[in-house]
Amino acid sequence: APCIDVAPHRDAHFLFFPCTLYSRRTDVLMMTPWFAPIVWNGTYNIDILNAQFHQRGVRIGLAMFAIKKYVVFLHTFIETAEKFFMVGYNVNYYVLTDRVEEVRQYNFTLGQGRHLTVLKAPTYKRWQDICFRRMEIIRNYTRELFTNEVDYLAVADIDMKFSDDVGVESLSDLFGTIHPGYYAAQRQHFTYERRPASKAYIPKDEGDFYYAAGYFGGTTEEIFKLTNYCHTGIMADREKNIEAVWHEESHLNRYFLYHKPTKLLSPEYLWDNRMGERGFLKRRRFVAVPKNHNEIRN
Ligand code: UDP
Ligand code: MN
Repeated sequence: APCIDVAPHRDAHFLFFPCTLYSRRTDVLMMTPWFAPIVWNGTYNIDILNAQFHQRGVRIGLAMFAIKKYVVFLHTFIETAEKFFMVGYNVNYYVLTDRVEEVRQYNFTLGQGRHLTVLKAPTYKRWQDICFRRMEIIRNYTRELFTNEVDYLAVADIDMKFSDDVGVESLSDLFGTIHPGYYAAQRQHFTYERRPASKAYIPKDEGDFYYAAGYFGGTTEEIFKLTNYCHTGIMADREKNIEAVWHEESHLNRYFLYHKPTKLLSPEYLWDNRMGERGFLKRRRFVAVPKNHNEIRN
């Protein structure tokens, strides 16, 4: 019998023997118009991918900022990453903080091949500036350090926890995550920067997806290019006294429009449980930890 008759009833079978006439997910978009995969549960075989990535002996970095009060998120972040983030790989956590001494006192039990480095990062009065400057700080450390230590770098918000696997299926030369608030929105409702004066400007009739700044990554070479572009744009805006509507996220969206990511992560990779249940969402891999914005930012 042709596989189209049996595959829908045999998920495990399908994952090992792909069938040309059957798509595992028909409820979601699995590929962008420029042929970048969009990663959803059930669309890949992790055993095949692990064999490929282990063969290459990849080293993976995960960078996160813990400036001022945001150090409170660090424990949960690292503890859950130990359970779910790139298990079985060489992983370097890079904690960028203004409280280096305090964070160095923390004790984390890390698995084999996993290390944590505490790096000095400047602080800024306004939370907006802390967000904006992430691009500059990542750029500089990528050039000075990350390039020598890892092949891929992911950059994440810290007010988050892992609650399911984030593995090598998510890695690619340049990857971005579809924002959980905008996966179903139409282009005209994306909150891109719409003022032509800003370097983050996106015209009304352009744009593919609305990407989240809370999780993105790629090879260190691609991350250098991305962060350098965003930081240069942010500084040019500053000269003109203009601040993009969603800060560094606006610049990231502009970058991804003209430098298309080679892989997209579905909202499984950046979810907020306040959004409730969704039929298409089979796994919640990386979810927001609720916070009181006023309390934590000031
Ligand atoms: N951040 C920080 N200290 C601050 C403000 C922000 O370390 O005082 C970092 C932190 O890593 C945080 C990220 O910047 O996850 C983005 O800010 P936030 O998570 O508050 O943005 P939101 O997710 O609410 O848009
Ligand atoms: Mn956040």
